[in-house]
Amino acid sequence: MLEKLTGKIQDALRTINGKATITEKNIEDAVEAIKMALLEADVNLRVVRRFVNSTIEEAKGERVLRSVDPGQQFIKIVHDKLVAFLGDAKQDLNLKGPDTQSVILMLGLQGSGKTTSSAKLALRLKKEGRKVLLVACDLIRPAAIEQLSVLGSQIGVPVYKEEGAKDPVKVYKGALETARKNLYDTIIVDTTGRLQIDQEMMTELVRLRDAAKPDELLLVADAMTGQSAVDIAKAFDEQIGLTGVILTKFDSDTRGGAALSLKTITGKPLKFVGVGEKPEDFEPFYPDRVASRILG
Ligand code: GDP
Repeated sequence: MLEKLTGKIQDALRTINGKATITEKNIEDAVEAIKMALLEADVNLRVVRRFVNSTIEEAKGERVLRSVDPGQQFIKIVHDKLVAFLGDAKQDLNLKGPDTQSVILMLGLQGSGKTTSSAKLALRLKKEGRKVLLVACDLIRPAAIEQLSVLGSQIGVPVYKEEGAKDPVKVYKGALETARKNLYDTIIVDTTGRLQIDQEMMTELVRLRDAAKPDELLLVADAMTGQSAVDIAKAFDEQIGLTGVILTKFDSDTRGGAALSLKTITGKPLKFVGVGEKPEDFEPFYPDRVASRILG
């Protein structure tokens, strides 16, 4: 993952690393090369501009130019900037304690990996000792309910569904009753997705949000779509309000544009990444680890 971006940035840093002294020109050249790498990685222009300006400003200070190891100092600045753009610290889910019910709404467009991610998150929370109920509220995509049922039985998490249902709020209410009766403490709702954002979907999701009053509203977005994942996150946040983002197909994302732009553009943290098709292929997002990997 992120191979392209990593390769290009490492090339840029090679020109500066290990030099006993570096000049302002060396810094400008390295930052220019990083800028090109970020643009090729489909990072949002506003993010690239901020990155370039703040890196140049800090790196040209005496602290770097006069230090005994200016290359390393410069790399540290780039590392810290990357961490900041990726979201600083790892962001946990904000769920209630195990004795109180928590609700997570999974939002996203069709094909983003929403159903798969619902199951991945369910497995993760189950392993943490929570009693999880998955709820099939994607009533638009024909195979979504069946897909969630299959995934649920694979990971040993029950799935609440109502055959032939038309109203996701009604399904949610049925699920809530089941959860209360059976003392499930965490409800993960797979919601309706469409091929693109439309008002009907948003209206339905707002109704569901108002009925469920969720603890987490997580957008599932496909990392491979680059900046368009960021635009989608912005639209969902404006209309529904997000608490975080899950980037899927991070395993296939060689560029990293979505991961690097999301926090700055939407203000919402990236909480998890999908790194494969299996239920276990799911990880919390650690900005510092990803930044270190990009720098090699
Ligand atoms: P939905 O329409 O948003 O519910 O999408 P699905 O959950 O059905 O996922 C769409 C496709 O993406 C499926 O083939 C999944 O196996 C695949 N997929 C989902 N997440 C990931 C991921 O993190 N990595 C990879 N490589 N494939 C994924």
